[in-house]
Amino acid sequence: MAYFTYFMIFRAESVINNSYNSRTETFAQKVIRGSILSSDGTVLAETVVSDDGTETRSYPYGSVCAHVVGYTIQGKSGIESFANFYMLRSHAPILERLFNDITDNKNEGDNVVTTIDIDVQKAAYNALGSYDGAIVVIQPSTGKILAMVSKPEFDPNTLEADWDLLTSDSDSSVLLNRATQGLYPPGSIFKVLTTVEYIRENDKVSGYSFDCTGSFTSGSSTIHCYGNTAHGSEDLKTSFAKSCNSSFANIGLTLNISSFVSLCESALFNSDLPTSFEYKKSSFSLTSDADTDEIMQTAIGQGQTLVTPFHMALITAAIANDGVLMTPYIIDHTENKNGVSVKEFSSSEYGTIFTEHESEVLQNYMAYTVSNGTASALSGQSYDAYGKTGSAEYIDGSDDTHSWFIGYASKDGYEDIAVAIIAEGAGSGSSVAVPIAKEIFDEYFSK
Ligand SMILES: [Zn+2]
Repeated sequence: MAYFTYFMIFRAESVINNSYNSRTETFAQKVIRGSILSSDGTVLAETVVSDDGTETRSYPYGSVCAHVVGYTIQGKSGIESFANFYMLRSHAPILERLFNDITDNKNEGDNVVTTIDIDVQKAAYNALGSYDGAIVVIQPSTGKILAMVSKPEFDPNTLEADWDLLTSDSDSSVLLNRATQGLYPPGSIFKVLTTVEYIRENDKVSGYSFDCTGSFTSGSSTIHCYGNTAHGSEDLKTSFAKSCNSSFANIGLTLNISSFVSLCESALFNSDLPTSFEYKKSSFSLTSDADTDEIMQTAIGQGQTLVTPFHMALITAAIANDGVLMTPYIIDHTENKNGVSVKEFSSSEYGTIFTEHESEVLQNYMAYTVSNGTASALSGQSYDAYGKTGSAEYIDGSDDTHSWFIGYASKDGYEDIAVAIIAEGAGSGSSVAVPIAKEIFDEYFSK
């Protein structure tokens, strides 16, 4: 009995959350699984009980929230997985539970109220359109995850019937949450990190100048600017705003590699991420004995570096929050069937990734990228936008690129929001990912 009590109090969470444990089924026999709600109480997942007692999990938003909400058949994923414990506990009024126990009826499980803003989620889902890719939207001051989209998507309402088909199609990996598990070359959004490293190694960034002819050659290696555009005379800020590969390849060759590695690792490359979602670690594998070509490629976000959209959203949120990363979270609180709060989650500081000075420089450069650079489609709005585009090559010898944008926006009376967006194989960051960001910002600041 003592062991059982210990087990219930201290171990129950980890055991129930293990979807392969048969005890999960024991709980499920006594409790009707609770619902998953958005921040305004909109139902994202609920268990519907028919007259004959059959329970069906229903997802009113279908594929819009597919990967973030997840599923609970054939194992579990997303919120359905890591919030499993809460939904299989019932804090319904005690007399009601007593009555249900005596009459052999099930109790109603607690509901999980998330930080998802369903309007922003819908806007992000629609904005990505028919592209494969991912979008993550985070509130930098709190770490609240407001939206998470991954495509190709699936309909969780028909997943059981579609399971064999979806899991046999290994090419498209529909069930993979690309937001947290998709590893991509970052392309030019990585110049944010290269810029910080340059700032760390050089007291006066104002001393930097470069004359871009459209390409940059060192030894036998040549780096080209996007479209071979000659950007002319530049300082660090214009190199950043125009996303000049030649200038950044030049910068890369001046950097102290081991210091660069330290910076990236403190910015959560090759590291665990603070999240309950299943995820892949971003990788930064530059070493001090790397050759010239590898260093130049890495400095412009090509080379061996791989990132997840979620990780890049965290970096962006930290920049917006003056260098401080707030621990990302998506469960705001749990409540019983009557809406009485059971457990509250709050924001907490994860750590300082960039100094205030470094963040200020990046904020300034990201604003300039909007006013005078590759993200100019975001200028002249009712809000102030900041960002960095990327057009990441992903096949050797091909000009095809993934379209990237990381950035944030602010407006009086609103909390800032930060986004990381990738549209696979869609072309340049400016032409596809920036307009997607605009749709998300427009929706967020419309309320
Ligand atoms: Zn250039």
